[in-house]
Parts: sequence; C-alpha cells; structure tokens
Amino acid sequence: MKEKLYTIELHDALTSGDECPFCYMERDLEQKAIEFVLGSSYMESDTRDKTDRQGFCRHHTKMMYDYGNTLGNAWILKSRMKHLREGLKKEMADFKPEASGSRFGLFRKKEETAGGTSVGNWIRGEESHCYVCARVEDTYRRVIDTFFYQVKHEKEFVDMVKQSKGFCIHHFADLVDACADKLDKKEQDQILPVLFDQMNRELDRIQGDIDWMIEKFDYLNKDKDWKNSRDAVQRTMQKIVGGHPADPVFKAVK
Ligand SMILES: [Zn+2]
Ligand SMILES: [Zn+2]
Repeated sequence: MKEKLYTIELHDALTSGDECPFCYMERDLEQKAIEFVLGSSYMESDTRDKTDRQGFCRHHTKMMYDYGNTLGNAWILKSRMKHLREGLKKEMADFKPEASGSRFGLFRKKEETAGGTSVGNWIRGEESHCYVCARVEDTYRRVIDTFFYQVKHEKEFVDMVKQSKGFCIHHFADLVDACADKLDKKEQDQILPVLFDQMNRELDRIQGDIDWMIEKFDYLNKDKDWKNSRDAVQRTMQKIVGGHPADPVFKAVK
C-alpha cells in the first residue's frame, strides 16, 4: 500500500475511551483543517482558488466563525462571494420560466424533473461541496483503509477493537460498507460477527446509561449512584449521529 497508513492515530483513537474512534479522529482532522484554512493559507492563491470553488457547508461555516480571525474569514468570503455571484448571475440570466407544475410532469426526462429549476439546482450543486469536508473525507477514507489493513495484517488489532467502546451508528455505516468493499467473503465471515456483536453490546451499554439517567430523576432514586449516566445525553447523541456535542467551541489560540 503506497498511501500513508494512520496506524498510530487509529490505535490512539481506539484506546482513547471515546464512544467512536472515527469521531475521535474526525474531530482532530476537522480542527486541523479549520486551523489550516484560517491560518496563513488563505492568502495563498492555490488554496484560495480551491475555497472559492468548493466553498464551505453550514456546519464548517459556523466553525470558521467560532474559530475567529475576522480578517481571514473576510478574505475568504470576499472571493467566494465573487465566484458565487458570477455563476448565479449567469444562471439567472439564462433562466426560462415554465408553466407551473410542468417540471414535475409525467413525460419529462428524469434529469429535468430530478430537482426543481435550473437556478435551484445550480445553488444546490454549490451547496453540495465544502473545502473542509473534502479535506477531512480524504484522510478519513485512508483511516478506513488503515482499519482494514490492520484487520488483515495485525492479529492483535481485532482484540483492540473488541476492547474499545465500539462505533457510533453514523460511522458504522461506512465501516460495514467498507467491509464489503475491501474484504473477501471469508474475511467478512470472520470480522462481521465480531463487529455486529460489539455493536449490540455497546448499544446495550449506552441504552442502559440513558435509561438510568431517566430513572435517576425519579425522587425515589435521588440518593442512588449515578453509575455511568452523568454524561449519558452527549454520549447517546454521539452514538446515534456522531460528533461530540459537549465539546467547547473550537477557537484560535491567541
Ligand atoms: Zn463516529
Ligand atoms: Zn463541511
């Protein structure tokens, strides 16, 4: 395998105690990407060219605002705005209104009925990519590759996975898909039951934590131990959708 393996990072993530090693790594990648974008790179023409074209999703726009660096954000916004306005101006000039409801008629071609008007589709297209998402996804794909490289080549790795807290449901989708993509039938027969058993076990644990949190609010249980339920809300949120809802806002170090 020519590409970089993220073995050490993946081991760290699995032993970190996080509810999901991929959430753990994603947080780091995301923060590094924000630091990169709002560090000095926004003044470099090749980076700015990419941020102009790819833009930023709503989630990462909020992160950029929270991070700080007003002047950096202003430069990025100025030229992204210029890029967007050129495209939008052209789309609006070319736009031809149609009779109402005709876009969803039975006999129109599939691509024409797929998603509304040309202007609407153009805008949605612009919203479908993000410079930070792209940077994070690029490395994340290689982290998934590393996971399966380890499954194949390091005997102790599966034990390490078993001893971790498993995965969030969001990232579990990618993991199971990648199993089908990267392992042969025999390898899948070995690893999938391990991952599925773990998923059931860890979801039972989280379910127990959130259930007990509710029980604790009962007056009769007020003197009982919290067990592991004190932070059950954020961990259950993470287990379902991924991410770290209780994290403090990520800000530039001044
Ligand atoms: Zn996750
Ligand atoms: Zn994004």
